[in-house]
Amino acid sequence: MAEDRSVSIEVVYRGIFQKTLAQRICRSVVLAARKRGHTGTAFARYGDSPERNGVPAKQFAVVAADELELEASMAKYEPSVVDVSIAVDDTLVKGVESWAWYGRQPIWKPVRANGWLLVTSDKKPDEVLAQTDAAERPYTLGIVPGGASFAGLWVYKDDHTDFRVLGALARILPQWIALDDAKAASLELAKGDQSAVASVQYGYDSTAMRPVKPGEGTSGHEVLQFTKPGWTTMRPGIIVDARKPGERNPYYKKYGARTMRPVVNFDTCIKCTMCWLDCPDECFEVTPEGHYEVVYEACIGCGICAQVCPVKDCIVMVDELKFTDNTDKWQLWKQDHATYNAWFEDMSGVSADPKKGTKGSVPPNANPAANPATSAGGDE
Ligand code: SF4
Ligand code: SF4
Repeated sequence: MAEDRSVSIEVVYRGIFQKTLAQRICRSVVLAARKRGHTGTAFARYGDSPERNGVPAKQFAVVAADELELEASMAKYEPSVVDVSIAVDDTLVKGVESWAWYGRQPIWKPVRANGWLLVTSDKKPDEVLAQTDAAERPYTLGIVPGGASFAGLWVYKDDHTDFRVLGALARILPQWIALDDAKAASLELAKGDQSAVASVQYGYDSTAMRPVKPGEGTSGHEVLQFTKPGWTTMRPGIIVDARKPGERNPYYKKYGARTMRPVVNFDTCIKCTMCWLDCPDECFEVTPEGHYEVVYEACIGCGICAQVCPVKDCIVMVDELKFTDNTDKWQLWKQDHATYNAWFEDMSGVSADPKKGTKGSVPPNANPAANPATSAGGDE
């Protein structure tokens, strides 16, 4: 990569839910860079494989000094090295397992040495870093203020995540995106709405930068021992491996699609079976007592179980970044109700004893698939 002649930016987003947001960020980058006479293009990676709800996907913006440089920078179908990676949902820092790959990859994997990882988050840089795979090379973690935006399922409602990200990019790449150009581009995209300009400035001023040294981060995330077959080692024809009843795919775990996960209050569960029946991914296992426990490796975090459960706060959706493992929890409840209930309360902010009511603040059920009434639109 000719660092001074071109710049590559990727946006990592939750498939479908954040597609429009990713498009808007990439287009705004190109629009702003063109105002300074640079050339550029925005493109998506997944033309050949279906995008799925919540499953990580990528779009790219490449900006270059001239057309020749741009062509050279786009030679790769998916750039293997980028200057900046932008994650528009902080739970993506737990690793990215896309529909098109086998195995979880660290969020920083394509980021060049001394590049940037920008994450939209309400958390502090160290909290986000604690859930990011240990770095192999130095980079700067930038936290763009704001939670995960799902403003793009049916009709796009701009919450200015795109403009805040553009402001952050103007700060780290002033040679490609000047702040004034970012503001002018935002004004154009927002059809003259001056609040877009303020959001660019806010992203520029308020993005917290945290240099990350090699080794910083977590080594606690699962590493899947799986090697993709090459052309010469692929088995002929279409082969679907048989699985025993109840056996799940050992490679594609699905949990990378999750922004929130359900926690269950087994004490208030009335064993009605609704969660088990309605879970689209068959994540619930029946316990010997007739409760239903979530298999966290299989759960995509859609929130349907929490919606259909007839008992108030029996299933609560919780921010995925609060968890450091995928261990199923019914065994803990079986062994020690008090310890389990303390864990349930700590995670959910809800009292395990319904008579006592809500203990703390309950996180919003952020997944748009779970709550279409509150989700804002998109183009799908
Ligand atoms: S959130 Fe609930 S319904 Fe959705 S996949 Fe997970 S367990 Fe199943
Ligand atoms: S829907 Fe709720 S009450 Fe019914 S079995 Fe599932 S957790 Fe229990």
